Amino acid sequence: MSKSVAILGLGTMGSGMAANLLKAGFSLTVYNRTAAKAEALVRDGARLASTPAEAVKGASIVIGMLADDTASREVWAGRDGALEAVQQGAILIESSTVSPVLIAELAQLASAHGAELLDAPVTGSRSQATAGQLTFLVGGSDRALEAATPVLKAMSKEIVHLGPVGSGAKMKLINNFLCGVQVASLAEGLAWIERSGLDRDKALSILKNGAPGSPLLGAISARMVNHDYTVNFLLKLMAKDLAYAQSEASDCGVHLKTSEAATGHFETAIAKGFGESDMASVIEPLRGQ
Ligand code: NAP
Repeated sequence: MSKSVAILGLGTMGSGMAANLLKAGFSLTVYNRTAAKAEALVRDGARLASTPAEAVKGASIVIGMLADDTASREVWAGRDGALEAVQQGAILIESSTVSPVLIAELAQLASAHGAELLDAPVTGSRSQATAGQLTFLVGGSDRALEAATPVLKAMSKEIVHLGPVGSGAKMKLINNFLCGVQVASLAEGLAWIERSGLDRDKALSILKNGAPGSPLLGAISARMVNHDYTVNFLLKLMAKDLAYAQSEASDCGVHLKTSEAATGHFETAIAKGFGESDMASVIEPLRGQ
């Protein structure tokens, strides 16, 4: 592979994505605020950079996989940020779930530095990132996407081009709005089942196999039942996604009342210390009521 790739952010998702880039044979440089998380990747052949600026030197494709708007702004545009050192003509791919407002800001900055931005947030979680089975929701030009496609393919099962820059970020927030509301309503429903005197497994089987059933309901209800909060998707990140969704929908004249109610449950869980646990733990405060 001739392309030199840099990835910024090696959390739950970025570490799996980076591993697949190495497997596909790309020359890879990694940056993470907490450098220790890069150890396994470095053993497998990645080069570790100590700043985002150092990471992107010579890279024709740069991917960001960071927590939120604050982290993304810091890594792309902060001190020793990636933008100050990007190569002319580089394609920058922001895969973090961030606000469309930030994407517009980063796209302008990228252009001012002679680079081009794609927003390409993902659906799929830890296991899909590890297996190279993500779906990328892409906004940006045909030309940039064509150049990025071999790299995106190494991490995904599907690449959907939704329109101009910002389109991927918008679609991702709509997707996660529906996920967050469903997880919160499942928490209420399961807490209710557990107090109702019904057989829990029979009740859940009816829901999973009936009209309310979905891949999310199946996966999250199993974790709730088993009290297994091993992190696939941090609870605090879902609260973040719902906040961005509410702001974005409001700009389109839509008031996300169900999201506000769901946010209440995620905020209560954060206040009770579950922010760093999997989002399935949103049920715990409801069980304790
Ligand atoms: P994560 O495990 O929490 O990783 C977050 C990454 O952001 C880490 O590399 C972290 O560095 C870095 N970071 C956080 N704050 C920072 C700051 N102020 N400055 C510099 N770096 C900072 O999150 P994740 O699960 O990988 O998710 C990454 C993105 O993908 C998020 O936007 C999330 O919403 C989205 N997403 C997640 C999933 C999922 O299932 N997990 C699925 C789809 C999309 P440290 O290691 O130093 O903390």
